[in-house]
Amino acid sequence: FFAPAPAQAELFTVNSPNVAYTDNEILSKYTYRTTDITKSDDGKLVATPRQTLYDFKVERKVPKVGVMLVGWGGNNGSTVTAGILANRRGLKWDTREGEHESNYYGSLMMASTVKLGIDSKTGNEINIPFHQLLPMAHPNDFVLGGWDISGLNMAESMDRAQVLEPTLKNQVRKEMANMKPLPSIYYPDFIAANQTDRADNLLAGDKACDAHVEQIRTDIRNFKSVNGLDKVIVLWTANTERFADIIEGVNDTAANLLQAIKNGHEEVSPSTVFAVASILEGAPFINGSPQNTFVPGAIELADQHKAYIGGDDFKSGQTKMKSALVDFLINAGIKLTSIASYNHLGNNDGKNLSSQRQFRSKEISKSNVVDDMVAANTQLYKEGEHPDHCVVIKYMPAVGDNKRALDEYYAEIFMGGHQTISIFNVCEDSLLASPLIIDLVLVTEMMTRVQWREHAEATENQAEVKEYNNFHSVLSVLSYMLKAPLTPPGTPVVNSLAKQRAALTNVFRACVGLEPESDMTLEHKLF
Ligand code: NAD
Repeated sequence: FFAPAPAQAELFTVNSPNVAYTDNEILSKYTYRTTDITKSDDGKLVATPRQTLYDFKVERKVPKVGVMLVGWGGNNGSTVTAGILANRRGLKWDTREGEHESNYYGSLMMASTVKLGIDSKTGNEINIPFHQLLPMAHPNDFVLGGWDISGLNMAESMDRAQVLEPTLKNQVRKEMANMKPLPSIYYPDFIAANQTDRADNLLAGDKACDAHVEQIRTDIRNFKSVNGLDKVIVLWTANTERFADIIEGVNDTAANLLQAIKNGHEEVSPSTVFAVASILEGAPFINGSPQNTFVPGAIELADQHKAYIGGDDFKSGQTKMKSALVDFLINAGIKLTSIASYNHLGNNDGKNLSSQRQFRSKEISKSNVVDDMVAANTQLYKEGEHPDHCVVIKYMPAVGDNKRALDEYYAEIFMGGHQTISIFNVCEDSLLASPLIIDLVLVTEMMTRVQWREHAEATENQAEVKEYNNFHSVLSVLSYMLKAPLTPPGTPVVNSLAKQRAALTNVFRACVGLEPESDMTLEHKLF
């Protein structure tokens, strides 16, 4: 019923002695320029420009990609599935506002552009779709599948979600009804007790065990072979779990974690079991919820297997605004002194979060999102000083998926004055999260086809030519889409939305040998 479209033609080539194209690869030599800072004896800072030469290699062949969602039958899972089917078929539907047509609005990759450069004749900016900076997959070509503890088929799940218009649902209903989530693992202690009534599609057993890991691995392998896929990416969009305790000897190292699963230790969560199975199967695993799926043992396991992981918690509505607005305020020299964030929502996510331990995961994930911006501004904040920050979430069934987020930002301005910014943000939650799922999959898949090595000038001694490496298994380049970005152990977290977008753009540019986009536009200033 569905033949993948041929891979998109590449939109541009790079004309540089540092960049070469072969049938299968783009090879580039890239100079990474940074500034090293040291402190001299008299306390003065010394800034030394530094450059490192890298080779990047990008695989040009776009693979056939499968996406397996954990929590496929939820609001996000059913919405992203219907959205992709609708886009693939170019569907249009009637609403009370008139006809709507399918789009990928809200997807950084599919609906935003990046500046490629300057038109050599007119001097105007040339902008191209983000997804055409590198030879990326297209979401219309994704093959979708996954697991859910609820056995409804995807048409029934879409109805339960109450997100999409009936005129759209009717057009995808038949296809959706043929899709049924695989049985999943359910350890009741990890999600809210109020979820029990939907848990009717379960593998036997209520705590971690090798059999669960093996079954998930088999599911991934079957999905791959039945659909003739080159790659499968697994993404957790299931309920928010409580945090797992980090216990020495249980989940602190890869070996201990595998042993704890074998022993059926009760502190191993379902999401960690999915992560472990995906890592062992070489399938990238992304966590869209706030809990600490990636316990130290899981991160170490991913590193050992050179498997890609990313997380945590989709950054869709309130926090996305926060990481843009706080960036602006603090970088404008305005001293933010408090943020009061209140939400109410009425979907199943809200129901689950009405339980204290699950709310706590969300509270942690939502609370640290301004830390790096505050710490960076030593003019406004003394060491250890922070704005007050409070996060409240309430379950209000009547508003369904249309989450209300009310935020008050209170700041100190010139000479003791105050600025108060109040935001009322109605986030159609699953319609904001679905494009993030698409972006996370697209970028993760792309990063599996990029390799790097330190550049060595041509030498007669072949032994000196280094092997290419993968990027670090923790893909911090996904940070733009995530509320509490996971970074390689010991490396800083960046929450600022502008910095996250710049990092992603410039890493992609570097992969094809292009300089970062600095927005200096000297050509318009010096003449
Ligand atoms: P949802 O409750 O509608 O869907 C979650 C699904 O997961 C349900 O169908 C449930 O049956 C299933 N599930 C629970 N435990 C499972 C398990 N062990 N295995 C397989 N399936 C399981 O929620 P949603 O609105 O789709 O959100 C999904 C997750 O994404 C939540 O954790 C939420 O906090 C997170 N999130 C959502 C947004 C957003 O929607 N804007 C933003 C950030 C994070």
